[in-house]
Amino acid sequence: MSWESKVKKTIPYTAGEQPKDRNIIKLNTNECPYPPAPGVLDAIDALKSRASDLRLYPDMNATALVDALAAFYQIDSSKIFVGVGSDDVLALCFLTFFGSGDPILFPEITYSFYPVWADLYKIPYKQIPLTPEMTIDPFEYAPGLTHVKNGGIIFPNPNAPTGVEEPLSKIERILRANPDSVVIVDEAYIDFGGTSALPLIDRYDNLLVVQTFSKSRSLAGMRIGFAMGNEKLIGYLKDVKFSFNSYTMNLPSIMIGKAAVEDRSYFEETTGKIVKTRERFKEALKELGFVFPDSKANFVFAAHPDFSGDYLFTELRKRNIVVRHWNSPAIREYLRITIGTDEQMDAVIKALAEITATAQNTNQ
Ligand SMILES: *Cc1c(COP(=O)(O)O)cnc(C)c1O
Repeated sequence: MSWESKVKKTIPYTAGEQPKDRNIIKLNTNECPYPPAPGVLDAIDALKSRASDLRLYPDMNATALVDALAAFYQIDSSKIFVGVGSDDVLALCFLTFFGSGDPILFPEITYSFYPVWADLYKIPYKQIPLTPEMTIDPFEYAPGLTHVKNGGIIFPNPNAPTGVEEPLSKIERILRANPDSVVIVDEAYIDFGGTSALPLIDRYDNLLVVQTFSKSRSLAGMRIGFAMGNEKLIGYLKDVKFSFNSYTMNLPSIMIGKAAVEDRSYFEETTGKIVKTRERFKEALKELGFVFPDSKANFVFAAHPDFSGDYLFTELRKRNIVVRHWNSPAIREYLRITIGTDEQMDAVIKALAEITATAQNTNQ
């Protein structure tokens, strides 16, 4: 009928809101409340003297950034792939590793971008329910039991939006049961006290670990993410990237990302502060009667038995506090609250105390 019948139609991912008002306490997209490492400012200054280099294409291997990551994680540069945020890296992974035609597996409650990429690339998928404790049951990911075959496996660890961390023993069980599939562990939140699966890449050639600069390195605005795995996996990822867009990492990203990675003590200090604030926040939430799975991320996924998620979200919003809330039936009673500064979390606790003390019980 018209050109529209030829268009690829897809339902995009819905990101958390980015409010313009600076007075809002923004705890809805898991950004870091602290500024990037001081070295990032120096890198921005240094960029001035390299402004004329912007007429050239950047290094398509982003060598300076990859080498800084290799030094930080004590692995060979050939085992690292960088991209424009981990969303870019993960989208390329779906394209590279998940195209066999067999359904890929991921948890029913997880990062809501996974089904969006699967639909975009027409990859069939099966969502595996979490246990009542919101943990992953590795048994459910074993081929031959619930499904004959799978085309790949992906899950975040800690999971989002639950914050629940799985032990490496469980991840190894999934890896051992699936030598014929690529298993991707999305470690967007691993730096807040979790144990990375990175040491397992030498033992499992089907494991890819994906991380980001957006949460623990205070650089969501820069868009840097990376994958770590054996050279063969990384090589296949590069082949697809170089068949799509060779120059995804621009010169400022490479220089600023390198500066951020090189400051280990600032990274440890800020992530340590967030962990401390999180633990204090959990205690305060408990005292107010909230329930939540134990979080190892920079957010807490909490519900209150007497108040609906929608009500709590709206009341917080009235007090200029923005958290994340989804309307899907399985998680509608929960709020995902990002851990900000101590002052911000004190404000949240004060608001929640007020809301739960004075309001009508809305969840009957
Ligand atoms: C935030 C997030 C990402 C994406 O982060 P980028 O900003 O694209 O690096 C990926 N996976 C999960 C689970 C996340 O929460």
